[in-house]
Amino acid sequence: MIPYGRHLIDEDDIRSVSETLVSHWLTTGPKVSEFEAAVAAFVHSEHAVAVSSGTAALHTAMHCLGIGSGDEVIVPAITFVATANAVVFCGGTPVFADVDLNTLLINPKDVEAKITSNTRAIVAVDYAGQPCDYDALRGICERHGLVLVADACHSLGATQGGIPASRWADIAVFSFHPVKHITTGEGGMVVTNRADWAKEARMFRNHGIETDHREREHLGTWAYDMVKLGYNYRITDIQCALGISQLKKLPRWIAQRRRLSEYYSQLLADIGWLEPLKQVSEGHVWHLYVIKLQEVGLRQRLFHVMRQRGVGVNVHYLPVHLHSFYRNRFGTGQGLCPVAESAYEHILTLPLHQGMTETDVEYVVQCLKGFEYQGLSEVV
Ligand SMILES: *Cc1c(COP(=O)(O)O)cnc(C)c1O
Repeated sequence: MIPYGRHLIDEDDIRSVSETLVSHWLTTGPKVSEFEAAVAAFVHSEHAVAVSSGTAALHTAMHCLGIGSGDEVIVPAITFVATANAVVFCGGTPVFADVDLNTLLINPKDVEAKITSNTRAIVAVDYAGQPCDYDALRGICERHGLVLVADACHSLGATQGGIPASRWADIAVFSFHPVKHITTGEGGMVVTNRADWAKEARMFRNHGIETDHREREHLGTWAYDMVKLGYNYRITDIQCALGISQLKKLPRWIAQRRRLSEYYSQLLADIGWLEPLKQVSEGHVWHLYVIKLQEVGLRQRLFHVMRQRGVGVNVHYLPVHLHSFYRNRFGTGQGLCPVAESAYEHILTLPLHQGMTETDVEYVVQCLKGFEYQGLSEVV
């Protein structure tokens, strides 16, 4: 099976993790700080705070913003559920904005239409690895006094206007789940240029306690004060040792993902019944390769046929506002974001990851072409 996404681990990664396993620190030690510094440098951010998952990073970001009861945060309808869930964790209300038909990125016009006096922030999700329209989103945030958050879980390494895309946001988060660009098993990162938010994030990941174990050891004291309610969102040194060695390979992996995507686009050009999502940004880092099927009725069968042939196609994502939890808790449903709802019926994610080769791409396309003949004739 060629999965839609997969990690790639080499000898360097294994050595890096092994060294940490026999070191003094298994968690909250020097590897955490080293990984934070490496990611901060990579995305040109002043501060980076590593946490236990991308979801924990989103929750931490919402906490830093002070999101609470009565606050609204605008999120795109098409994203992983965690983007909206983080708002709910803090007692806020996610407000769903529709997406652009061609890219499935949050539509700035609809964002603006959904701003109320309770709106505090906008979350931009770089769907599939393609940066959002940050120019427009920044403008909206400045006009309305809102905070711009980047859920950059798909887009580590993406650029927009010649700078790391996450720099357009006031605070950004990354995920290091195995299907993402680099992995720590589970893991996440909050990046920001605001020192007060970075300090808040460090406390939040450690129960809301002012100092961590290493700082107390350094200060020669046992005393600590818990000043706010926090969580255990710490990441281990074992995980960060993996992250450090993975990050070194990221530029090469992004280049490989770009090569494979371009090859897909070239080979798919002569299939009339599907169309890849549009690339509008040069800084796209291709977390996912998503196609839109012309006919809604084809997807179910295509999904099964491709799976049978060992091609791990998938669907990203059911619009968040159509999940039962959101329907029941917030009364959302069909009709709220019509472009997202319609696009959802047509989309299919093809396998794409750094461990794939051109031959794998050819095989996937060959399976699609095989289906073309069988699929359309059967439908007729
Ligand atoms: C993966 C992902 C998350 C959550 O990250 P985890 O590390 O799995 O918790 C959040 N948002 C988006 C858009 C993601 O793709």
